[in-house]
Amino acid sequence: MRVLVTGGAGFIGSEYVRMLLGQPVYPAGPLPVDAAAVTVLDKLTYSGNLQNLAPVRKGPRLRIVHGDICDTSLVDQVVAGHDVIVHFAAESHVDRSIANAAAFVTTNVLGTQTLLDAALRHGTRRFVHVSTDEVYGSIDSGSWTEDWPLAPNSPYSASKAGSDLLALAYHRTHGLDVVVTRCSNNYGPYQYPEKVVPLFVTNLLDGGTVPLYGDGGNVRDWLHVHDHCRGIALVQEKGRAGEVYHIGGGTELTNRDLTARLLAACGAGWDRVVPVTDRKGHDRRYSLNIDKIRQELGFAPTVELDRGLADTVAWYRDNRAWWGPLKKARQ
Ligand code: NAD
Repeated sequence: MRVLVTGGAGFIGSEYVRMLLGQPVYPAGPLPVDAAAVTVLDKLTYSGNLQNLAPVRKGPRLRIVHGDICDTSLVDQVVAGHDVIVHFAAESHVDRSIANAAAFVTTNVLGTQTLLDAALRHGTRRFVHVSTDEVYGSIDSGSWTEDWPLAPNSPYSASKAGSDLLALAYHRTHGLDVVVTRCSNNYGPYQYPEKVVPLFVTNLLDGGTVPLYGDGGNVRDWLHVHDHCRGIALVQEKGRAGEVYHIGGGTELTNRDLTARLLAACGAGWDRVVPVTDRKGHDRRYSLNIDKIRQELGFAPTVELDRGLADTVAWYRDNRAWWGPLKKARQ
């Protein structure tokens, strides 16, 4: 099978590529998908990094195309000859979308539509659209099921919701074989150090402080990136066309709880935490019901949170050469 992975040089896309090519963060066991050849299409924005693909870059099964998913003629050439598209490429950071939403609408909505059109033209057998729990907005109690109405609150989540609906519309209108995944917050190695886990860990490893939004009571479900990719592989291979599948860890934490765990894992105390003004429109709680993927596809997370966080801290401790220059470039 020939698989095109958009955004394959980013945090989650690169784990998917490493997994397809036999070098995931944790041993994956037998995969439900085979990938004779993998093509990465990536614009290499600030969060795309070819070093994320270093463990698999030399192999003959990987081709890397540096380009934009909004570039119609390039996308047309690249999509040709692939059986499956797994679409990760996106602008992904909520805070950036609050400061400037334009790139989010362009890449997340227009870029997805450009890929969907190319998939239609070339008869791509399956289009896996990777999305997020943030499209539902915020939920005080209970958990979202896949048929829950979308009510996104940030420009990021609104642009992802738009792309989800477009992908599903191409299934209903044109019969394109589309599956959509919506996942909770990911953590793990190779995550650009602006997101909370790598930001906090690298600040703490540098002897600095960490900024905690508002009262720290916002709740998120956390899943190791490796388990997210295992879930996507199951959906790619066995998901039903036109369906949405949640992927989550079942481990909800307030930001204060998460901070406490990261402080402990880095051997630091609460004196290193600086409260900061809350993010505008900050969703209070996300919670996914993952019964569908468990029951239909047999998914279960494998990386227990404390072990995953400890391994993640160890990875950032051991890979300063990866994140040091990225943080320096941000200053
Ligand atoms: P990331 O920012 O680390 O990676 C995004 C990748 O897309 C980068 O390699 C970047 O260069 C590439 N890219 C951006 N614009 C592009 C364009 N116009 N053309 C081609 N490539 C482009 O993001 P991530 O955290 O790996 O997220 C990947 C996907 O997973 C996104 O669609 C995101 O919405 C979704 N998701 C993320 C999380 C999370 O916790 N990080 C959770 C659920 C879903």
